[in-house]
Formats: sequence, structure tokens, C-alpha cells
Amino acid sequence: MKVIWNKEIVDRASVKIDLEDRGYQFGDGLYEVIRAYNGTLFTIDEHIDRMFRGADKIDLKMPFTKEELKQLIISLIKENQIDTGNIYFQLTRGNGSPRNHAYPDPEKVTPVFTASTTVVPRDAVLMSKGVAAITIPDMRWLHCDIKSISLLGNVMAKHEAHKVGAFEAIQHRDGIVTEASSSNSWMIKDDVIYTHPDGNLILAGITKLVILKIAREAGLKVKEEPYTLEQLKQADEVFISSTTLEVMPVVTLDGASVGDGKVGPIVTKLQELYAQEVTRVCGE
Ligand code: PLP
Repeated sequence: MKVIWNKEIVDRASVKIDLEDRGYQFGDGLYEVIRAYNGTLFTIDEHIDRMFRGADKIDLKMPFTKEELKQLIISLIKENQIDTGNIYFQLTRGNGSPRNHAYPDPEKVTPVFTASTTVVPRDAVLMSKGVAAITIPDMRWLHCDIKSISLLGNVMAKHEAHKVGAFEAIQHRDGIVTEASSSNSWMIKDDVIYTHPDGNLILAGITKLVILKIAREAGLKVKEEPYTLEQLKQADEVFISSTTLEVMPVVTLDGASVGDGKVGPIVTKLQELYAQEVTRVCGE
């Protein structure tokens, strides 16, 4: 498998990242994960737009245009012959030596870009059975809208879930559900689908965007508004969403069944609509 290092497709072993790279020292950088189905990248423009928005927020000057980045990513998918899989890419502010928290002069640093691919089939079994989640206070910072490579808060939350054999940790701030450690969180009550609105407390998920669109087009009732931990626990159905998980049912919360403990009808409907959307964009 080849990787991208800056603007070149190279062997992974030839990549050299400086130990004073600000991504390595400060977590000063951005990342994205895009899914490929049938060799076609799903929602690539939305992911690239989000990286550019993030770069603006942290004054990181993108070293390429959106179109150049898109072509670079497509070339790696082709090179590695990825049919169904993920592409991970990140951009750091580069080598800022001598070490100093302040952003270095952009004229004196070159951002460092890397990208790699993995073959990951859809996990149809997990999607049909659902997963267990815990709830946990959101201990992260107040710029969760930036897809930063500094992920320690998310990593710690996920670890708490894994310690008790759960798949994901759904976070709340003062009793308001924000999002999960590496996915957006949703609940359904009385046929209405709820999810936290975009803003600084959550990542504006691309999968969330797709789900909002397909749900509304199908005439389902959707409210992008905050809901409480208590409401989550009383929900009829709960699910999480991300590029890699798509629409993933949550069937237990803190060890208690969600609804009747089975994957519910609206989540099943959303999974079908999502699969149709993927087929529409990427083919059968
Ligand atoms: N929220 C967090 C904290 C995430 O890490 C992710 C994905 O990595 C998401 C939400 C879902 O985002 P997307 O649907 O763009 O993959």
C-alpha cells in the first residue's frame, strides 16, 4: 500500500516526519476520514470543505486548492485499488522549531500532509445487531467543531466505554447530550428524530448532513435541537453516525435496554435510505 507524503505518492517506509513537527508536539493539525464504496469516494467535497473551514479557524494556510487535494486523494484510492475502504488524511502546521506554542510565521513553515488507505468492508452484522454505549460527561474543549488531531478527550471517553465492554461513549455537558467520542449521537422519541445542532460543542458530521437530508426527503420528522440525558435514556430508539459507522443502532445505554432492546423501525429505515444514497452516488 502506498501513501501520500506532501504531494507525492510514496512507499510508507520512505515517509520522514520531523520530531519537531507541530502535529507531533502540539497536536496542531487537522484530519479527515472519507469512505470509498466501489472505488468512488462518498461526499468527498463535503469532507474537503470541512478541512478548509477548519484550516481557516486555526489560521493554517492550505498548501493546495480544493481541487488539487481532491485529485491527490482520488489518485491514492486508484493507486491502492481501494474498492470499499477508508482514506485517512491529515495536515499539520509543520516543523515549527524552536518549539513555541505560538503559531510560527506562515512564511517560515511548510504544512505537512499525509494520507493512507485501509480496506474496510461494511460491517453488516454489527449494523443489524446494534452496539452498547455508555454515557459520560463531555470533558473536551470548546472547539469541537474543529476536526483537530488533538483527540485526547475523545480518546479518554472511548477508553471508558471499552473498559466496560461498550462500543461507544455518548457525551453530555451539564445534562445536554452533545455527541459520542467518535460519532454524532441521535435519539428518536414518538417518531421524531433528534440530534444536537451544529456549533462549537460538536463536530458537524458529514454523515449527519447526509442523514438530515435523506430523512427530510423521506418525510421523517427531524429536529436539530439539544436533548437531555434523561430524554436519551427514555428514547424509543438511539443511534450514532459517522463516516465509517453510517447509521449504527445503539441497543443498550449504561447496561439498560434502549426501548425494547432491539433495533427499531426508524433506525432500520434510515439505514436503508443511507444505503440507497450510497448506491446513488457510488453505484452498486
Ligand atoms: N463527532 C466526532 C467527535 C467524530 O470524531 C466524528 C467522526 O470521526 C463524527 C462526529 C462524525 O463525523 P463524520 O460523519 O463526518 O464522519
